[in-house]
Amino acid sequence: MMVPDPWKAAQAAKRVAKAVVKSQPLLVSQAVVDARQRACRACDRYLPNSGQCGVCTCVISLKSQLTTESCPHPEGGKWPVCS
Ligand code: SF4
Repeated sequence: MMVPDPWKAAQAAKRVAKAVVKSQPLLVSQAVVDARQRACRACDRYLPNSGQCGVCTCVISLKSQLTTESCPHPEGGKWPVCS
């Protein structure tokens, strides 16, 4: 497992805290989770042995559930746009 980047983890926690303060929903629907995880499994940056994103080091099973997260792929977001 790649050690999660502490700076990026702190930034993610900050985004979650902001959403909580604003009473915004934190979790996306299961359909969105599934679509995001499908995109990750097909991604060249996905680390299948650890289930992490090779760009941000986040654990995809968690990251894909949060409204505050987005795909950091350097060629542009790979996650589907879901409302
Ligand atoms: S770059 Fe995006 S699609 Fe690829 S593993 Fe990371 S979050 Fe998933």
